[in-house]
Amino acid sequence: MAGLEALLALRKLAPGAAQVELIADSPQFVYSPLAVAEPFGLGTAHKFELTRIAREQGARLHVTGVARLEPGERRIITWDGRALGYDILLFAIGARAVNAIPGTITVKGPAYTSRFRTLLRELDRHRTHRIAFAVPVGSSWPLPLYELALMTAAHIAERGLRKTTLQLVTHESEPLELFGPKASAAVRELLDERGVELITSRAPVEAHKGELITAPGGALAADRVVSLPRLVGPSVQGLPGDGDGFIPVDLHARVEGLEHVYAAGDATTNPIKQGGVAAQQADAAAEAIAAELGVIEAPHPFRPVLRGLLLTGGTPRYFRSEVAGGRGDDLEVSESALWWPPGKIAGRHLAPYLAAHIDEGDKPLEGIGVEVQLDGGAAAVAPSR
Ligand SMILES: Cc1cc2nc3c(=O)[nH]c(=O)nc-3n(C[C@H](O)[C@H](O)[C@H](O)COP(=O)(O)OP(=O)(O)OC[C@H]3O[C@@H](n4cnc5c(N)ncnc54)[C@H](O)[C@@H]3O)c2cc1C
Repeated sequence: MAGLEALLALRKLAPGAAQVELIADSPQFVYSPLAVAEPFGLGTAHKFELTRIAREQGARLHVTGVARLEPGERRIITWDGRALGYDILLFAIGARAVNAIPGTITVKGPAYTSRFRTLLRELDRHRTHRIAFAVPVGSSWPLPLYELALMTAAHIAERGLRKTTLQLVTHESEPLELFGPKASAAVRELLDERGVELITSRAPVEAHKGELITAPGGALAADRVVSLPRLVGPSVQGLPGDGDGFIPVDLHARVEGLEHVYAAGDATTNPIKQGGVAAQQADAAAEAIAAELGVIEAPHPFRPVLRGLLLTGGTPRYFRSEVAGGRGDDLEVSESALWWPPGKIAGRHLAPYLAAHIDEGDKPLEGIGVEVQLDGGAAAVAPSR
């Protein structure tokens, strides 16, 4: 997400000022936030062809990975052993998701959809009665688990399934505390309305034989536990990393200790691992690169604004918070869109680009409170209920 946002931003800021090469380990970009809705048959993780995007943006695409950086030689070595030189380099290689809680269904990778579908079938056939949604320490972006709990509650209510218990267990002291007290209160109310029991300040550790073990101590009865992965930093030789492998950067996304090398998104030490925030950091990187190219004078520093769209199985909720000034400052909570296009990834360039090209991907968005709308000739991904 950060890589594409930076590509689009740079093309706008500095058209023709540099030859741009895009290195990606897959020929497709997958719009992953909608993966949570797939098991409910309510949405699809759309795919976009990178060849098409690169061609349109005048960039050259290399489908391979970066094995190591050789900053002294100003080149990278790719997985297939090629050496590619650079004048300026931006890393947007994301974080690595690892299973955080053994014994759980982790929302990660393509296997997640079929495993969660099986869980829904078990519920429908009365074979599973107690489900816990567990937010582990280190997951950083807990919103998808709240969405899953709320959508499962809606699924249960629609089918009139009785004797079913849903719990949301989190290490946070308040639900979605990243967004501050107003959002926490709104989410608490939603969970309560839908009959999802909320258990805070307990870190889920392991699921075993019908129990979820938490710290501080205790076990909760749970037939199935659904969890999020923990994120760890990327490991590319030649790049600096903190204790967890995340790349240290300044407010202009310059990598500490290296010249002409930038990094943006989940791969960096920025504590909020979220697509919209990754895109904003990519915009700061693109401006700093444009300044290095001599086409702009004063690049703006990265000042994250958190925008979250919570799918609920009913009317979605929008949260917007200026995180730069302190947690939860200037927070807005709304049932109507707080940004445009009002999609899940609020990237300045990427969001309108994807909205305009969604029909060129696979199927249109349906059902999950998200549909394709036409506004002044431009398509946008917008909530439908
Ligand atoms: C279930 C789920 C739901 C989410 N929902 C939302 C949401 O609603 N809104 C939101 O804003 N965020 C959401 N997120 C978070 C969001 O997906 C991430 O924060 C975002 O993808 C980070 O963008 P990025 O560009 O830093 O990394 P990524 O999008 O992970 O991109 C990094 C890319 O680099 C590639 N790569 C890795 N190593 C190398 C290498 N060595 N060489 C070349 N390429 C490499 C990776 O394969 C990947 O394609 C969600 C995440 C999950 C798991």
